Amino acid sequence: MPHRRFKTSQVELSRLIQNGIAFALSVAIATWIGLTLERSTGIALIWPPTGIILAMLLAARAPRHGWKRAGILALGLSTNFAVLVALGRSEITVARDLTACFIEAMVAFALLRGDLDGRSNLARPKRFLLFAALDVATACLASALCIAVLFGFSRLELLPVWWASHVLGLIVTTPLVLALAGRQGAFRAFEDRRAGAVLLLGLTAVAVGAMVAATFTQNDLPLLFLPFVPLVVALWFGPSTVAWALPLSILMAVLCGAASNGPLKLAAIENSTFRLVGMQIYLATLITTLLPLSSAIARLHRSKQVFGRRTSAVREVAASIRESEQLYRVLADNSSDIISRFSLDGNRLYVSPSVVDILGWPAEEMLGADYRRYIHPDDAEALRAMGARLGAGATERATQIYRNLRRDGTWAWLEARVILVRNADGSPRELIGNTRDVSHQKETELALAAAAADLTELAATDALTGVANRRRFDEMLDREWRRAMRSHAQLSMLLIDVDHFKLFNDQYGHLMGDTCLHAIATAIASSVRRPGDLVARYGGEEFAVILPDTDGSGAMEIAARVREGIAALAMPHIGNRSGHVTVSIGSAEAVPNRSTASSVLVEAADAALYEAKRLGRDRTERAPMIDMAENIMVLPWAIRREG
Ligand code: GH3
Ligand code: MG
Ligand code: MG
Repeated sequence: MPHRRFKTSQVELSRLIQNGIAFALSVAIATWIGLTLERSTGIALIWPPTGIILAMLLAARAPRHGWKRAGILALGLSTNFAVLVALGRSEITVARDLTACFIEAMVAFALLRGDLDGRSNLARPKRFLLFAALDVATACLASALCIAVLFGFSRLELLPVWWASHVLGLIVTTPLVLALAGRQGAFRAFEDRRAGAVLLLGLTAVAVGAMVAATFTQNDLPLLFLPFVPLVVALWFGPSTVAWALPLSILMAVLCGAASNGPLKLAAIENSTFRLVGMQIYLATLITTLLPLSSAIARLHRSKQVFGRRTSAVREVAASIRESEQLYRVLADNSSDIISRFSLDGNRLYVSPSVVDILGWPAEEMLGADYRRYIHPDDAEALRAMGARLGAGATERATQIYRNLRRDGTWAWLEARVILVRNADGSPRELIGNTRDVSHQKETELALAAAAADLTELAATDALTGVANRRRFDEMLDREWRRAMRSHAQLSMLLIDVDHFKLFNDQYGHLMGDTCLHAIATAIASSVRRPGDLVARYGGEEFAVILPDTDGSGAMEIAARVREGIAALAMPHIGNRSGHVTVSIGSAEAVPNRSTASSVLVEAADAALYEAKRLGRDRTERAPMIDMAENIMVLPWAIRREG
């Protein structure tokens, strides 16, 4: 967006102009101070403008800021030049000062640029001392030598004083401007208390001013230590105050010291140059003492802050843990399910109050290992095994349905869903259970299963007689045939037919006939003993009995029992020869094999039954053993029947 870009560049330009004006103004003031402080010797006590230029160069030390640095240097030097000319300095002095400024700034910048990053800044005592003793001293030495060579110093013995004034100027102003311009602003220690910072600054200024005045406006008492007192106190409250208060106090000391000579007079230093040097030494002491002290105090404050932040963070975390614990407790306490916590060995640590509603037992009785007493013995082992699996970390979650005794003595069906909770290091910690009352579902389920079983039974039962129906008979015969085939066992069957039943119906009516059939079926059913035996209504007034693992003589015994049982009923049947209801029975047996169908057994029994009828009824006939090898039946009656 061209419009936006235009706006951005406009903002940048206005900021550039503002910064440029501020920079030029501070260089001008610094030059003016330096010149004001020049004594009869023509040498300033302290020469501050170069320090401002150096600080700005260092602030723009990134390689991509080459043009910016050139601009800073040009603006700084030209301002310097303008002020020097305006205050009527001689041409040689102007040339000398500009050369010195250029050399010092360039040499010091070259020495410092690569070494100033976030970690090693000038607020660190070691770095500051190195900066003062090495970088600045070297840069000023270079400029002093250059000037001595290029311009020839009228009084060479003054060169060290000149050098010291430049060194002092650099070490006071460079860190100050860097601190104000860079990220370690003077207000930084008061981020959210700017008013406090201004108040502190004001108080410090007043106190320092008073102390400096008290020290330097009289010549009787050696009170040089006095300005240290308010400075150190101010440092304690705001370590960055030093960036303001120190230059301020130096400025005041310099101004006062320039007016009178203060305590230095006491030392009987008559030579004004020596007093100048004494003053320089005093200022250097002030700086080298206070700057490292401010840095140490700043670090102390920072670590106190960090510690405070950590402590309050720990408190906050603890409070939020308590809060969330309470929340979960409320959730658990108000759940309609039973919420539980278990130790890894299965002891219950907590149970929610809903246990009282669901089981009736007080919650205390459901804690520890006591709850196990109320678990149904048939379910206890499965439940214990599930807990052990979870406790050992073999599975993360498991579900189990079990019966639990209610206080009223009935059994409740419960569904327990249990999950494993792990520690941060992955080791098992405890189990959390959510148990629901599923009695209603479970009872419905059981009732349904019973109904389904009843239905199956009904579908296989003959309604009139209560014994198995024909369908069931066919199924069972097939199954028993194959089973006998596998085990090479004998399979026998009886086919039973009521004698002259047509006449019975005619005589006593159909209803009586039905009653008679029911009685006969019951009699037959009570004649077979083995669980595998099956009595079925084969059709009309015919019944069939399947006798697994039974040979022919066994089958004949059962047949005899059936006839006895029916005789015992002693049901009158005047159309029958005996005057009572009787049956005829055909018995057959086989050892089934793969190549023969089960129907041969029925056919053989049917043929034997036909033979019994033919021979006068009320008897049992046994079919000859079926010849399975030939896969044909030796059935003389069947042949005869067809004939
Ligand atoms: P036989 O001695 O030769 O067997 O003579 P029978 O009269 O029993 O001859 P048959 O087997 O041909 O007759 C069967 C009769 O049984 C026909 C029918 O009236 C009667 N019957 C068949 N099923 C029922 C039934 O469910 N109820 C009644 N009441 N009678 C039935
Ligand atoms: Mg019949
Ligand atoms: Mg019959």
